[in-house]
Amino acid sequence: MWLNNVLSESEEVSNKSRQAKQKRKIIRALSKSNVPLTIPELQKQVRISTPTTIKLINELITDLLVLEEGKKETENGRRPTLYTLNIDKFHAIGVEILFKRISIAVVRLDQKVILEKQDINFRLENTPECLETVISFIQETLKECQIGKEHILGIGIGLTGRVNTLTGESYNFFNFREEPLAQYLTKRLKKQIFIDNDTHVMGLSEQVLGQAKEAKNALVLNVSRGLGMTIIAHKKIVTGGMGFAGEFGHMQMSNSEKLCICGKRGCLGMEVSGYALEENFKSDISGGGISLASNNKELEGIRYDDIIEAANEGDGLSINLLQQMGEKLGMALGNIVNLLNPELIIIGGKFAQAGYMFTDSIKTGMNKTALTIPLRYLTIKTSQLGRETGYIGASAMVFKQHDLI
Ligand SMILES: [Zn+2]
Repeated sequence: MWLNNVLSESEEVSNKSRQAKQKRKIIRALSKSNVPLTIPELQKQVRISTPTTIKLINELITDLLVLEEGKKETENGRRPTLYTLNIDKFHAIGVEILFKRISIAVVRLDQKVILEKQDINFRLENTPECLETVISFIQETLKECQIGKEHILGIGIGLTGRVNTLTGESYNFFNFREEPLAQYLTKRLKKQIFIDNDTHVMGLSEQVLGQAKEAKNALVLNVSRGLGMTIIAHKKIVTGGMGFAGEFGHMQMSNSEKLCICGKRGCLGMEVSGYALEENFKSDISGGGISLASNNKELEGIRYDDIIEAANEGDGLSINLLQQMGEKLGMALGNIVNLLNPELIIIGGKFAQAGYMFTDSIKTGMNKTALTIPLRYLTIKTSQLGRETGYIGASAMVFKQHDLI
């Protein structure tokens, strides 16, 4: 009798877990479909019997996770009911932490932003106090958004510096605890936390919202103060064993003798980056060059965004520097094109604002190193996404982890 009880109980438990798994399958199928689905259409995807599918759909409707959405017109006159996900019950929080700015948004599954706080002044420091500031900032937003906690699936964080996506460890910032940062934050915020570096988050936004939506094999470059890359292979972001894949800025593709922050010389990021643009600009001006960007401004205070802006206004010196940099980047990228044969390269980050001026010189550089056939197959675009890239990509990390997008 005792054994019977145990057996029937475990059967009940296993039934429950099987049904929960089947419900997840239904939710994922509805989430990934662009149109509402009928029971037979759902069944084709989730491979569950008709009575079970109907039973589970009804339970999901009771839980307000699924909605009926009218009837489908068919040729034989039958009009089966259509079902869709109640997206108002599926949200994620996206946080972008950069050196001087922090942004946060509550994002619905369809990428609609429910609440956002963009570019809040902030100073990223590797201290417990700074981590507490981040935690309070997220807690405040959780309170303000007025969405039931059960309808927030998790929090995605894009953090500058090196991050191990798989373990949730951060190596440059908030690394003073024994346990991985994601694990610690999950305990503190009582929500599942996913962490990746800002460049991978940018790549994910291009995949979810931007021009890499349909791309199978693509490279998304983050050319801002530094230089990084997201590799998309067969529609998946390549993380590598520890999440470090895409450290393009530290590849030895330059003759530069300048010492990089990684401790080595010859890193591409010392030649192609916002930092390098500022250095080159200062050297040209000190050598007698004249530029719109240095009018009425102290040389030390000129940032690479000012130089890009001046180039867009037709400043010869700035255009020259950007084109030289573009050509160097193109020559380095040509090697990656030969290695990975992508169909698309997206130039993201601040340098995207230089548009054709930058991409044309990248193409010139690539012609020198890439093989003709993969080059013919390739398109180069500049990112069209705005500042929302960071937090949208960070929130998308949560939906991706739950296999909803
Ligand atoms: Zn380096």
